[in-house]
Amino acid sequence: MPARKRPWTPRSRCSNAWWPVSTGLAERAGQQATGPRCIVVGAGTVGASCAWFLQRRGAQVTLIDSQLPGQATSFGNAGCISKTSVFPFSQPGVIRKLPGWLLDPHGPVRIRWSQLPWVAPWLYRFWRAGSVRRVEEIVAALVALMEHTVRDFDDILAGTASEALRQARGMVLLYDRPGDFRADAWKYRERDRLGLSWRPLPREELAELEPCIRLGDGVALFEPLWQHVTDPGGLTRRFADAAVERGASWVQDRVRAVALRPSGVTVTIGGGQVLEAERLVLATGVWSNQLLGQFGLRAPLLAKRGYHTMFADPAIAVSRPVMSASRHVLLTPMTSGLRVSGTAEFARLDARPDYARARALVASARHFAPGLGGSGISEWMGQRPMLPDSLPVLGPVPRHPQILCAFGHGHYGLTQGPTTGRIIASLAFDEDPGIDLAPFAITRF
Ligand SMILES: Cc1cc2nc3c(=O)[nH]c(=O)nc-3n(C[C@H](O)[C@H](O)[C@H](O)COP(=O)(O)OP(=O)(O)OC[C@H]3O[C@@H](n4cnc5c(N)ncnc54)[C@H](O)[C@@H]3O)c2cc1C
Repeated sequence: MPARKRPWTPRSRCSNAWWPVSTGLAERAGQQATGPRCIVVGAGTVGASCAWFLQRRGAQVTLIDSQLPGQATSFGNAGCISKTSVFPFSQPGVIRKLPGWLLDPHGPVRIRWSQLPWVAPWLYRFWRAGSVRRVEEIVAALVALMEHTVRDFDDILAGTASEALRQARGMVLLYDRPGDFRADAWKYRERDRLGLSWRPLPREELAELEPCIRLGDGVALFEPLWQHVTDPGGLTRRFADAAVERGASWVQDRVRAVALRPSGVTVTIGGGQVLEAERLVLATGVWSNQLLGQFGLRAPLLAKRGYHTMFADPAIAVSRPVMSASRHVLLTPMTSGLRVSGTAEFARLDARPDYARARALVASARHFAPGLGGSGISEWMGQRPMLPDSLPVLGPVPRHPQILCAFGHGHYGLTQGPTTGRIIASLAFDEDPGIDLAPFAITRF
């Protein structure tokens, strides 16, 4: 199949009604880039951010994806820019909660039993990552990675004329019972130490901020540092559009093979066309092992599936994300309606979605949002690229500095996407990325 290569064309001449969406940067189209030739595989939030930061630095960028930008996991996430999410999922004691979660049909975690032999080695690594010492190391790494989250978002949103898609209204966090909150108290002590602010949210203030939320006997907190975007898939498209408008090439095709050259790489797409570059960025999300395997490498990457239900015409409204920490469900106001998202389902990449999970999220959210409902319902499943220690893989592969990894962002690929893009751009220009990348190296496994 021939590669479908689409340089930027004005929207009116584009066969696809929404690609590319003009970001108002057309005057910069065709700008001459003289930096290294870089191929970015994957146009999710991570890859599109890499393409934009690389292009801005003056690299000659080719962005490749088998789908249009922002159509995979980056399409339907909860839209939260959660700078304070610095705790790994594996923590002391979490593994003891797992059986209870698995036995509860509405519980936050599900494993398809037929696939347990395949998930078990990953769970073992997950358990190992939950020691007190490892958790401290991981928290330190995530704090460093997220330190400039907002600045990097400011940068890319301004550069892609996308500021209107971001809201800075904080987040409301709910616990069903005071005991649930007490169990997490160590995290808030740690956050106080790290200067990641939060505060209790009095009932009257909750009622004022989010009148449709019912707290019952629970506890409410306010997270002032959280922001959210109202169309994560659309935002990703804008990042890719802006890179293309600045001169990047867009290829819609599947990368079948990558090969090393003394000073670069070649990439074979679709029906056999070969592209050359000095740098290759693997931003291929949950599918990253397919290309890594060609260098004899493999990361313990698992699809941790999440679901959402959208109400295009919701019966209730929230003004900011509202999350239940006890129920692992999140409500987010989006441009296209109200999104109810969450859940963790471990299944193979090719397993069929189980949309009962999306419906269970709604049932669970009704506990704190009793009026939740509406019309124009759609359901979605996305595959979080999850590593057992909750850290992404960032940086070069051993002995092959021309291959740069940018995958495995798990629950926080939207939050960490722009920072990843900035870091990858520094590495492509052989500059210090300003962060110790050892905790993120692929060699840690
Ligand atoms: C329900 C849910 C809620 C979430 N909420 C949040 C949130 O609130 N905040 C947050 O920060 N994160 C959130 N996340 C996580 C976030 O969505 C992911 O971490 C992020 O989308 C990963 O982005 P990515 O670019 O790595 O992967 P993807 O978006 O999956 O993109 C990878 C791309 O690579 C392409 N690709 C792969 N292999 C090839 C190949 N060989 N050739 C060509 N193309 C290839 C794919 O087609 C795909 O488009 C959530 C996830 C889920 C499921």
